[in-house]
Amino acid sequence: MKLSIVIPCYNEEEVIATSYKRFTAVMEANSYDYELLFVNDGSKDRTEELLTGFAQDDHRVKLISFSRNFGHQNAVSAGLHHCTGDVAVIIDADLQDPPEVIPQMIETYEREQCNVVYAVRRKRKGESFFKRMTAKLFYRGLNLLSDFSFPVDTGDFRLIDRYVLDAFRQFPEKHKYLRGLFCWMGFKQVPFYYDRDERKAGETKYTLTKMIRLASVGLFGFSKKPLRLAISLGCISILIALALVLWILYLHIFVAENVMPGWSSTVIIILFLGGVQLFTIGILGEYIGNIFDETKNRPEYIIYKKINLDETK
Ligand code: UDP
Ligand code: MG
Repeated sequence: MKLSIVIPCYNEEEVIATSYKRFTAVMEANSYDYELLFVNDGSKDRTEELLTGFAQDDHRVKLISFSRNFGHQNAVSAGLHHCTGDVAVIIDADLQDPPEVIPQMIETYEREQCNVVYAVRRKRKGESFFKRMTAKLFYRGLNLLSDFSFPVDTGDFRLIDRYVLDAFRQFPEKHKYLRGLFCWMGFKQVPFYYDRDERKAGETKYTLTKMIRLASVGLFGFSKKPLRLAISLGCISILIALALVLWILYLHIFVAENVMPGWSSTVIIILFLGGVQLFTIGILGEYIGNIFDETKNRPEYIIYKKINLDETK
């Protein structure tokens, strides 16, 4: 059984040498037949240079380099499109997902005879309160809103087998929310619990904008509920408007001398309806934007360099 370790990297010069050593140590200690497939997602630092060095000395290190930063999900996609193993493990470069648990994941895979072993974070060390809270809220909120139920506190750290890899390669969509897609695919999936470490060096590469983009791909790619929200909001505003009409009628008929000049109620209604309309147009915009991107049919990523990989692929 050949194992492919898929490692997306973006500006990881501080940690990449340690990562390479730890990945190799785990692979060698277990005498696996393996490849370490690093995907350099348009790093602006020395990541590519370092990876090229490892790849020149060690043929089990493979490198794909993008022409610019295309984002973590696209980097993982490229890795999965190009890996040659029977089983692939997706793992971060920053050692937050400890490579030492990979043998246990393989054990689980063999014992359970499953297709996917997804790693669930029991604890998250060294991450800010803000990150932990937003992640917690996001995973639960997405489940509430989505038409599908996803395992919570599960990132992209997982083991997938050949069947899942082959199915994945058939996916034409550009905006991929990988953890959602794998769950959507079905197959036999088994959780594996682990404690997420802190980042060994460097800063997080997931800026707030990137986190919001990922959340929006997840939400708008897996749920039509926000579209229905427009209808609910419309109904609510109609009900409020009706109640206001009744109240004004009541004032006219029974307390005629107390009728308001009418300015404030008009402004409130206009503001309220304006808000509801803008909100729903925004939701429509998200979906239309996604359709726009998919119809342009641009590639998910552009590779400008491959090392130790079959050039015909
Ligand atoms: N990453 C990437 N492209 C990006 C951002 C991140 O390939 O645009 C990689 C990064 O190098 C790391 C993994 O994705 O291997 C997870 O990123 P990070 O550790 O910064 O995210 P966090 O763990 O803080 O959520
Ligand atoms: Mg990290």
